[in-house]
Amino acid sequence: MIQVAKDRRVFSLSATAEPAVRVAAGGAVCLETADCFSDQVRSSSDTPEGIDWGSINPATGPVYVEGAEPGDVLAVTVERVEVADRGVMAVSAGFGVLRRHFSGTSFRMVPLQDGEALLPGGARVSLRPMIGVIGVAPDGGPVPCGSPGSHGGNMDTRLIGEGATVYLPVATAGALLAAGDLHAAMGDGEICGTGVEVAGRITLRVDVRRDLDLVNPLVETAEVVAAIASAVTLDEAADLATRDMADLLCARLGLSMGDATMLMSAAGQLHVSQVVDPLKTARFEMSKAVLKCFAGALV
Ligand code: CA
Ligand code: ZN
Repeated sequence: MIQVAKDRRVFSLSATAEPAVRVAAGGAVCLETADCFSDQVRSSSDTPEGIDWGSINPATGPVYVEGAEPGDVLAVTVERVEVADRGVMAVSAGFGVLRRHFSGTSFRMVPLQDGEALLPGGARVSLRPMIGVIGVAPDGGPVPCGSPGSHGGNMDTRLIGEGATVYLPVATAGALLAAGDLHAAMGDGEICGTGVEVAGRITLRVDVRRDLDLVNPLVETAEVVAAIASAVTLDEAADLATRDMADLLCARLGLSMGDATMLMSAAGQLHVSQVVDPLKTARFEMSKAVLKCFAGALV
């Protein structure tokens, strides 16, 4: 399989980036990824002064997908997520919902053992590895990998783990896919501004879809399809994700806007993905079990 080492990294998603590798549609690629601090934090006593803050939020790539053209949708299936045996978290006066409670920035190393993360304070939480940053070159100028948007990017959406497929609207020839920022575990909201940040390796299979018309990303898991949207406020992100799911139900399943709206209100789930990037990301999830009564596929 085609491998990309983590030194082939970008700090923004851009239509003018030089591809690290070319992959055929239907092919797979294995990306080695650094953590969101570019692996610079090595001990809980490390200080923010020792960090090059210009080198955070790297993504490995970009991957040029043969045949992907503007107007297509890139379907990226996450076949495997492998994480290192140690992660890192941070609290900071500079980011996170509770930043006013902190001065400066402090780091804590988080051992990952026997399927659990050993958090500061003694709690153990089950590992649930996921990809924080996954995106294609945006329409327009470069977007830093720390930001989410219509192109994907730093969506910090916990559904994007092994077995999930992410659908991204392609804006430039080859799509220019890049990914990184793995989390060994993360809760909805990512309220301190970090999940359990960790280096690792991901295997992605890429396909080009020409039968989908997307403005913003979707993610599909075994259980749900979710529309993901990011905006300055959570209200706006929630509105966009809701609108995108309604449009998808109408376009793909032939529902009227009224019927789609009632279905979503009766059985859909509006969730917060993250509130700290500093754009906010919301998602609207529909259970596949609920959609089984329709003949067509939502994606
Ligand atoms: Ca992130
Ligand atoms: Zn992260």
